[in-house]
Amino acid sequence: MSAATPMVLYVSGPITGVPNNQLNFDAAVVCLTKRGHKPVSPKDIPACADLSCEDGPHNPRYPNGHTWNCLLRHDLVVLLQCDGVATLPGWQQSRGAVLEVTTALSVGLPIQHLTTQDFAHYRQEIQGVAPQY
Ligand SMILES: [Zn+2]
Repeated sequence: MSAATPMVLYVSGPITGVPNNQLNFDAAVVCLTKRGHKPVSPKDIPACADLSCEDGPHNPRYPNGHTWNCLLRHDLVVLLQCDGVATLPGWQQSRGAVLEVTTALSVGLPIQHLTTQDFAHYRQEIQGVAPQY
């Protein structure tokens, strides 16, 4: 596709309240990879190893048991090691994504905004039967 310089890009987007949000992240990862980048999905970033965050205020929407604070702390460490951030549509409505984009901009990391059209094809591909190549 584009001859963009390969970058390690942190994928930032809404999770809470978005049905099938995993599919958006997975499709964005495929999209960015096909563009020659190395995407990092927050879905793949491990939180604390021992669930020591469990004393914090729990958000039942996070089934893995980690607190929002715990997830964000570990995500931000990884984000700051990336070359930039790629946003999913609707990031402006996500408290976490706004925080991630603000953090990235604050330290001079570039932001790439993905549109639904950018990865809709990959969403279908992932959702459907695995294509035979
Ligand atoms: Zn934790």
